[in-house]
Amino acid sequence: MSAGIRHRMNISIIGTGYVGLVSGACLAQLGHKVVCVDQLTARVVRIAGGNAPFFEPGLEQLVADTVASGALSATVDLVSAVQQSEITLIAVGTPDADGHIDLSQIEAASAAIGQALKNKPEYHVVAVKSTVVPGTTDGVVRTALEHAAGKSVGAEIGLCMNPEFLREGTAIEDFMTPDRIVIGASDANAASVMQMVYAAFDCPKVVMSLRNAEFTKYASNALLATLISFSNELASLCEQTPGADAEVVMDGLHLDKRLSPVVDGHRVRPGILSYLRPSSGYGGSCLPKDVAALLAYARGKNVATPLLEAVAQVNAARTGAVLDLAEERIGAFAGQKVGVLGLAFKSGTDDLRHSPAIQLVEQLSDRGAHVTVYDPVATDLARPLLNGTVKYAGCAVEALEGGDVAIIGTAWPEWSELDWPKIRKAMRGNVIFDARNSLRTLDPPKDFILYQIGNGG
Ligand code: NAD
Repeated sequence: MSAGIRHRMNISIIGTGYVGLVSGACLAQLGHKVVCVDQLTARVVRIAGGNAPFFEPGLEQLVADTVASGALSATVDLVSAVQQSEITLIAVGTPDADGHIDLSQIEAASAAIGQALKNKPEYHVVAVKSTVVPGTTDGVVRTALEHAAGKSVGAEIGLCMNPEFLREGTAIEDFMTPDRIVIGASDANAASVMQMVYAAFDCPKVVMSLRNAEFTKYASNALLATLISFSNELASLCEQTPGADAEVVMDGLHLDKRLSPVVDGHRVRPGILSYLRPSSGYGGSCLPKDVAALLAYARGKNVATPLLEAVAQVNAARTGAVLDLAEERIGAFAGQKVGVLGLAFKSGTDDLRHSPAIQLVEQLSDRGAHVTVYDPVATDLARPLLNGTVKYAGCAVEALEGGDVAIIGTAWPEWSELDWPKIRKAMRGNVIFDARNSLRTLDPPKDFILYQIGNGG
């Protein structure tokens, strides 16, 4: 990031989820005046009171600071928020609906923005930050906007597609120090307004067509999912090969200079290498639904995408494969008392959407295990998702008390600081199955048998 903005803009953002609120608070921190809009009154009340409505590291403080300075506000009144701003970012959800992207929130938000623009004489830019399949911005969004506003994209309305690449758990840092900013734009005017929003950032800003911007986001997530499924297919092979360890194999792979180049005598270790590791699969609110949406898009275009089909299949089978491996090593789960540490789809977030750890708990129950769960930030959020037999603990030790097996479901760094000798005394058994290989860099906790994934034993 460079010095700051040259022009303070009035920005409205529709949707206060991970993308909308993090973008809003960061843009407010950079000097813009931002109003965040949501239809969930409880969320708006929390934000307006200076609080974050969900867990994301650093967000609570950032929202408190920016609300206190007056740079950030929140409302349920979409019409006045849009009318008092010069640009509106759409950051509503685009969930999966039976293997297809559900664009109903996008369509409703676009129509509501159009209504608000009906009586606003000034030029206004609307930018889609949500992940949408190619053609959506110039199709669903444009049609709903123009119809409701009674105006056309061009001289009166600018249309942009500005995909977001932040990751939950590091969302503020990702937003504030992006690798690139992708700006799909209907025309040069719209693109230049969008450039002003991001004037404080000195990373490359790539201006392209609306469809190319939509594709860039899917290309990015499809590649990450592919790397994860590739790693897990290799891990499955290593798991059936005595003496093999996929972590060691990956360490060797990572040192290829085409993956981690040597610059000025130092090896550069790109973040992408973290996707080339054995795991219990990809989850969260983006990769599973975005791969499914791209597959559905391809089917609609009659284009065969066998590689991407396989990526999704490998991932769908991974939880079962990990539990099969555990049963091979430890014995059947039926009747065993199992404590699962971690429920969020990864550490640093309370997001449980498509979490492999949740799938792990569900399948453990299906296999007859008596499961107690604990997550540092998401235990209570899991209650509505899991079946009635699962028990909930207030801390890791309580989750493992009297248990036969401990399973690591999410790689929270907290696990390395647990009092493992105390846990050993509290447990009936002495087995840890680390479905995230998060204890790998530690000396194995004493008096435990530690099983890892990707390992042939
Ligand atoms: P989310 O589901 O957490 O939040 C969406 C919010 O939009 C909700 O609070 C909802 O109440 C609100 N909303 C929906 N329709 C509305 C309307 N008409 N008016 C006002 N508010 C409305 O979503 P998210 O995780 O922030 O993701 C948003 C988009 O960004 C998705 O397309 C997602 O794929 C994409 N994305 C997400 C991430 C991520 O890490 N979560 C990263 C990059 C891109």
